[in-house]
Amino acid sequence: MYDLVLKGGRIYDGSGMPSFNGDVAVAGGEIVEIGRVKGAARKKLNVDGLALAPGFIDPHTHLDAQLFWDPLGTSSCFHGVTSVVVGNCGLSLAPARLEDREAVIKSFVRVEAISRRVLEEGFEWKWTSTKEYLDVLGTRLGINVAALVGHIAVRHYVMGEDAVEREATPEEITQMQRLVRQGMESGAVGFSTNQNLRHMREDKKPVASRLASKEELGSLLDVLGEMNAGVVQLSGGGADARGRISYAAELARRTGRPVLWQSISHSWSRPNHWQEMLDNTERVFREEGLPIYAMTQAKPFQNRYTLLNAQCFDEFPTWKAAMFNTVEGRKKMFADPDVRKKLRAEAIEDRSPSVFPRRWDVIFVDHVKLSKNKPLEGKSVDEVAKAQGKDGLDCFLDLSLEEDLETRFVHTNTQGDPQAVCQILKHPAVMIGQSDAGAHMGYDARFGYCTAFLGCWVRDYGIMPLEEAVSRLTFRVASLFGLSDRGLIRPSFAADLAVFDPATINTLEPEYVQDLPANETRMIQRSTGVHHTVVNGEVVIEHGSPTGAYPGQILRPKRWKD
Ligand SMILES: [Zn+2]
Repeated sequence: MYDLVLKGGRIYDGSGMPSFNGDVAVAGGEIVEIGRVKGAARKKLNVDGLALAPGFIDPHTHLDAQLFWDPLGTSSCFHGVTSVVVGNCGLSLAPARLEDREAVIKSFVRVEAISRRVLEEGFEWKWTSTKEYLDVLGTRLGINVAALVGHIAVRHYVMGEDAVEREATPEEITQMQRLVRQGMESGAVGFSTNQNLRHMREDKKPVASRLASKEELGSLLDVLGEMNAGVVQLSGGGADARGRISYAAELARRTGRPVLWQSISHSWSRPNHWQEMLDNTERVFREEGLPIYAMTQAKPFQNRYTLLNAQCFDEFPTWKAAMFNTVEGRKKMFADPDVRKKLRAEAIEDRSPSVFPRRWDVIFVDHVKLSKNKPLEGKSVDEVAKAQGKDGLDCFLDLSLEEDLETRFVHTNTQGDPQAVCQILKHPAVMIGQSDAGAHMGYDARFGYCTAFLGCWVRDYGIMPLEEAVSRLTFRVASLFGLSDRGLIRPSFAADLAVFDPATINTLEPEYVQDLPANETRMIQRSTGVHHTVVNGEVVIEHGSPTGAYPGQILRPKRWKD
């Protein structure tokens, strides 16, 4: 007798081969039969007209802590995600001794914008080693978890607070290597580091991994090379993308291990930069055969702000002075023609790369205060300015001033140009993900990268066949992380499945809920078109709702032992 049969779906098996109609039978947590299944089953799901795919594997999350109070990993599970990778960006909760916990929390709080109270009250810290962390985490999980060993924790474990002050000595590097090896031997899928120059702790000190010399990082990654196992996840590592790609290549050359670097995306201030990054990445793996991959995201990063709360101008000195002024002082500055000259020069005329798009045609009026301005909603600032016979900056500031700075604008920091995003997503060296699930819960939610990818880019833009798209979210990720029994619908593979309607699948706009420890608020994100999520043969989400099953496991790669 089977445990579960999914009857009458269209099977996208994860390999990229043509899809076909069939049933899938599950027993003992594994897929046991595919095709026309005849035997009886304890549970049957009629999936007629729906797509049946391996569960999606999210390669980039920060759910390390959240999974303790939310073992389902919401909202990832609402998008067909059955496995997640934690420990990204150099940040893991192990190894950590009692005296290192504060340093690790300080880093998480600032880099991933997770509230300190949530981290302090959300779980009981019952581990020191990576093995103990995985054992505790594995006691109650709704989805599967694969973990990276994070450089920041390793550094604090060996160096204490010196980790944020100086380079390591050769003896300290040897001790760190031992910790990396222990982590890998207890089932980690790789090592992550954070070289992002913007990443600081709560106390403004750089995160510990940023103080590592190249030799330190190389030596730690040599452990992966010696074991011939594991992925290197690289956050930052060079001021520009060219530097980052050559750094990723250097690490792959040294260790022979795959390097997943962060990230390729379109940005308005450097609209052709993504192409240069793709070309450079491609050159490295085509010419040298080095396994380096770039992360990208399927969801644009939307920035909604008023001139009461905007942070997107912080890199420009006059803007920053205005935004840190009192509201009255700020209004005076915005009204002053001489100040406006400086504001214009910094934000628009200066062409150096910035997070701010530096162009008014991609900044839109999102919400107005005065009813007479209602017709402006949805229009670009450029469009409104032209209609009013004004310069863009004057239009932007005049409108804000007229509405007591309450006019809300929206622009897309990254991935704003659909034509560029199509090219990036299609590229063979690109890994789709970067959901950052579990991070910056207060102002953004991108849990739904896979539903956005399948709905917006694959269905609506038609960038690739659904078969290939499913493979991108499943088999390819499993292959990279060495999860040898995941990512395909095959007999003997783990029964992780996502059942969805290709005609309606999509991500929904994030929404606020107050369900965090310490009663704090976060953004969640739901989807449309995802019907069921099956983890290790048990239905975790049925018709969109949690069933109360917790079949998740820690995924430890199988390694050959001679
Ligand atoms: Zn991250």
